Amino acid sequence: MNPARIFCIGRNYAEHVAELAQPGAADDGDCVIFMKPASAVVPEDEPIVLPRGLGSVHFEAELVVVLTGGGRDIPEDEALDCVAGLTLGLDLTLRDLQTQLRSRGEPWERAKAFDGSAPLGDFKPYLEQDLQALSFTCHVNGRLRQHGQTRDMRVTVARQIHLLSQLWALAPGDVLFTGTPKGVGPLSPGDQITLAGPTLGTYTWTCS
Ligand code: MG
Repeated sequence: MNPARIFCIGRNYAEHVAELAQPGAADDGDCVIFMKPASAVVPEDEPIVLPRGLGSVHFEAELVVVLTGGGRDIPEDEALDCVAGLTLGLDLTLRDLQTQLRSRGEPWERAKAFDGSAPLGDFKPYLEQDLQALSFTCHVNGRLRQHGQTRDMRVTVARQIHLLSQLWALAPGDVLFTGTPKGVGPLSPGDQITLAGPTLGTYTWTCS
Protein backbone atom coordinates (compact mmCIF):
# COMPACT_ATOMS: atom_id res chain seq x y z
CA MET A 1 0.00 0.00 0.00
CA ASN A 2 1.60 3.22 -1.11
CA PRO A 3 -1.01 5.98 -0.96
CA ALA A 4 -0.30 9.25 -2.70
CA ARG A 5 -2.22 11.25 -0.12
CA ILE A 6 -3.27 10.63 3.44
CA PHE A 7 -6.09 12.82 4.72
CA CYS A 8 -6.87 12.84 8.44
CA ILE A 9 -9.84 14.03 10.44
CA GLY A 10 -9.26 15.28 13.98
CA ARG A 11 -11.64 16.09 16.82
CA ASN A 12 -14.27 13.63 15.61
CA TYR A 13 -15.24 11.80 18.82
CA ALA A 14 -16.64 13.99 21.61
CA GLU A 15 -15.09 12.02 24.49
CA HIS A 16 -11.65 12.26 22.85
CA VAL A 17 -12.07 16.01 22.31
CA ALA A 18 -12.91 16.28 26.01
CA GLU A 19 -9.83 14.32 27.14
CA LEU A 20 -7.52 16.75 25.29
CA ALA A 21 -9.45 19.94 26.06
CA GLN A 22 -7.37 22.84 27.26
CA PRO A 23 -8.79 24.71 30.28
CA GLY A 24 -11.33 27.30 29.21
CA ALA A 25 -11.26 26.31 25.54
CA ALA A 26 -14.70 26.17 23.93
CA ASP A 27 -15.58 23.17 21.75
CA ASP A 28 -17.14 24.52 18.56
CA GLY A 29 -18.07 20.99 17.40
CA ASP A 30 -16.01 21.29 14.22
CA CYS A 31 -13.61 18.62 13.04
CA VAL A 32 -10.07 19.39 11.88
CA ILE A 33 -8.65 18.30 8.50
CA PHE A 34 -4.92 17.70 8.07
CA MET A 35 -2.61 15.56 5.93
CA LYS A 36 0.35 13.24 6.31
CA PRO A 37 2.89 12.39 3.58
CA ALA A 38 3.17 8.93 2.01
CA SER A 39 6.39 8.45 4.00
CA ALA A 40 4.28 8.36 7.16
CA VAL A 41 2.99 4.85 6.38
CA VAL A 42 4.35 1.94 8.44
CA PRO A 43 3.16 -1.47 7.21
CA GLU A 44 2.47 -4.17 9.76
CA ASP A 45 5.74 -6.03 9.19
CA GLU A 46 7.88 -3.00 10.09
CA PRO A 47 8.65 -1.49 13.51
CA ILE A 48 7.27 1.84 14.66
CA VAL A 49 10.34 4.06 15.16
CA LEU A 50 9.38 6.61 17.81
CA PRO A 51 10.90 10.11 17.45
CA ARG A 52 13.33 10.82 20.30
CA GLY A 53 13.74 13.90 22.41
CA LEU A 54 10.53 15.63 21.36
CA GLY A 55 8.22 14.59 24.19
CA SER A 56 5.46 12.00 24.29
CA VAL A 57 4.30 10.09 21.21
CA HIS A 58 0.64 9.15 21.56
CA PHE A 59 -1.24 6.35 19.78
CA GLU A 60 -4.59 7.23 18.19
CA ALA A 61 -6.40 4.16 16.81
CA GLU A 62 -8.62 5.00 13.85
CA LEU A 63 -10.88 3.47 11.20
CA VAL A 64 -9.16 4.12 7.86
CA VAL A 65 -10.79 4.06 4.43
CA VAL A 66 -9.24 3.99 0.95
CA LEU A 67 -11.13 5.65 -1.89
CA THR A 68 -11.88 4.66 -5.48
CA GLY A 69 -11.61 8.35 -6.42
CA GLY A 70 -14.63 10.53 -7.01
CA GLY A 71 -13.26 13.94 -7.95
CA ARG A 72 -14.63 17.26 -6.70
CA ASP A 73 -17.84 18.18 -4.92
CA ILE A 74 -19.12 14.71 -4.07
CA PRO A 75 -22.62 14.92 -2.57
CA GLU A 76 -22.81 13.44 0.91
CA ASP A 77 -25.48 10.94 -0.17
CA GLU A 78 -23.21 9.57 -2.92
CA ALA A 79 -19.96 9.67 -0.96
CA LEU A 80 -19.90 6.05 0.16
CA ASP A 81 -19.83 4.98 -3.50
CA CYS A 82 -16.23 6.25 -3.38
CA VAL A 83 -15.14 3.83 -0.64
CA ALA A 84 -12.99 0.94 -1.90
CA GLY A 85 -11.67 -0.59 1.30
CA LEU A 86 -11.37 -0.41 5.06
CA THR A 87 -8.69 -1.05 7.64
CA LEU A 88 -7.35 0.24 10.95
CA GLY A 89 -4.40 2.55 11.49
CA LEU A 90 -2.61 4.75 14.00
CA ASP A 91 -2.44 8.53 13.80
CA LEU A 92 0.75 8.86 15.86
CA THR A 93 1.02 12.26 17.49
CA LEU A 94 3.85 14.10 19.25
CA ARG A 95 1.42 15.25 21.93
CA ASP A 96 3.62 17.67 23.89
CA LEU A 97 4.72 19.33 20.67
CA GLN A 98 1.12 19.47 19.42
CA THR A 99 0.06 21.17 22.67
CA GLN A 100 2.79 23.78 22.19
CA LEU A 101 1.83 24.35 18.57
CA ARG A 102 -1.87 24.64 19.45
CA SER A 103 -1.16 27.19 22.16
CA ARG A 104 0.80 29.30 19.65
CA GLY A 105 -1.84 28.88 16.94
CA GLU A 106 0.68 27.20 14.63
CA PRO A 107 0.09 24.32 12.15
CA TRP A 108 0.35 20.74 13.37
CA GLU A 109 2.71 19.23 10.77
CA ARG A 110 5.67 18.64 13.06
CA ALA A 111 3.44 16.89 15.61
CA LYS A 112 1.39 14.83 13.16
CA ALA A 113 3.11 14.38 9.79
CA PHE A 114 6.55 12.99 10.61
CA ASP A 115 7.90 9.91 8.85
CA GLY A 116 6.43 6.77 10.41
CA SER A 117 3.43 8.61 11.92
CA ALA A 118 0.82 6.48 10.12
CA PRO A 119 1.06 2.74 10.87
CA LEU A 120 -1.51 1.27 8.49
CA GLY A 121 -3.11 -2.18 8.20
CA ASP A 122 -3.93 -3.96 4.95
CA PHE A 123 -7.14 -2.78 3.34
CA LYS A 124 -10.09 -5.19 3.23
CA PRO A 125 -12.72 -4.74 0.51
CA TYR A 126 -15.63 -2.51 1.51
CA LEU A 127 -18.66 -4.81 1.63
CA GLU A 128 -21.18 -1.99 2.07
CA GLN A 129 -21.39 -2.63 5.79
CA ASP A 130 -22.72 0.34 7.81
CA LEU A 131 -19.61 2.48 8.42
CA GLN A 132 -21.31 4.14 11.38
CA ALA A 133 -21.91 0.80 13.12
CA LEU A 134 -18.35 -0.55 13.37
CA SER A 135 -16.31 -1.19 16.48
CA PHE A 136 -12.57 -1.53 16.97
CA THR A 137 -10.09 -1.93 19.79
CA CYS A 138 -6.54 -0.87 20.58
CA HIS A 139 -4.45 -2.91 23.02
CA VAL A 140 -0.98 -1.85 24.23
CA ASN A 141 1.06 -4.70 25.73
CA GLY A 142 -2.15 -6.72 26.03
CA ARG A 143 -4.11 -4.04 27.91
CA LEU A 144 -7.26 -2.55 26.35
CA ARG A 145 -6.71 1.21 25.85
CA GLN A 146 -9.29 2.26 23.23
CA HIS A 147 -12.63 0.80 22.22
CA GLY A 148 -14.13 2.83 19.39
CA GLN A 149 -17.70 2.78 18.16
CA THR A 150 -18.04 4.60 14.86
CA ARG A 151 -21.63 5.59 15.73
CA ASP A 152 -19.97 8.11 18.09
CA MET A 153 -18.33 10.05 15.23
CA ARG A 154 -19.42 13.67 15.12
CA VAL A 155 -18.83 13.82 11.35
CA THR A 156 -19.78 10.66 9.45
CA VAL A 157 -17.43 9.06 6.94
CA ALA A 158 -19.78 10.15 4.13
CA ARG A 159 -19.67 13.76 5.31
CA GLN A 160 -15.87 13.62 5.69
CA ILE A 161 -15.56 12.55 2.03
CA HIS A 162 -17.95 15.34 1.00
CA LEU A 163 -15.96 17.95 2.97
CA LEU A 164 -12.62 16.80 1.50
CA SER A 165 -14.03 16.87 -2.04
CA GLN A 166 -14.89 20.56 -1.64
CA LEU A 167 -11.12 21.21 -1.64
CA TRP A 168 -9.41 18.30 -3.36
CA ALA A 169 -10.27 16.18 -6.43
CA LEU A 170 -10.37 12.80 -4.73
CA ALA A 171 -8.30 10.22 -6.59
CA PRO A 172 -8.02 6.42 -6.53
CA GLY A 173 -5.84 5.35 -3.61
CA ASP A 174 -6.46 8.42 -1.46
CA VAL A 175 -6.53 7.34 2.19
CA LEU A 176 -8.64 8.83 4.98
CA PHE A 177 -8.03 8.47 8.73
CA THR A 178 -11.41 9.12 10.33
CA GLY A 179 -10.56 10.24 13.88
CA THR A 180 -9.84 8.58 17.19
CA PRO A 181 -12.05 7.74 20.19
CA LYS A 182 -11.07 8.39 23.80
CA GLY A 183 -8.25 6.55 25.54
CA VAL A 184 -5.17 7.85 23.73
CA GLY A 185 -1.85 7.60 25.54
CA PRO A 186 1.94 7.51 25.18
CA LEU A 187 4.06 4.79 23.58
CA SER A 188 7.54 3.68 24.67
CA PRO A 189 10.26 1.67 22.91
CA GLY A 190 9.44 -2.04 23.23
CA ASP A 191 5.69 -1.54 23.43
CA GLN A 192 3.51 -3.83 21.33
CA ILE A 193 0.32 -2.29 19.96
CA THR A 194 -2.55 -4.25 18.39
CA LEU A 195 -5.57 -2.90 16.52
CA ALA A 196 -8.53 -5.17 15.80
CA GLY A 197 -12.10 -5.02 14.63
CA PRO A 198 -14.73 -7.36 13.17
CA THR A 199 -14.47 -7.24 9.34
CA LEU A 200 -11.47 -4.85 9.70
CA GLY A 201 -8.71 -7.31 10.65
CA THR A 202 -6.07 -7.53 13.39
CA TYR A 203 -2.75 -5.68 13.10
CA THR A 204 0.23 -5.58 15.45
CA TRP A 205 3.31 -3.35 15.55
CA THR A 206 6.30 -3.20 17.89
CA CYS A 207 7.78 0.14 18.87
CA SER A 208 11.50 0.80 18.77
MG1 MG B 1 -6.27 11.34 15.01
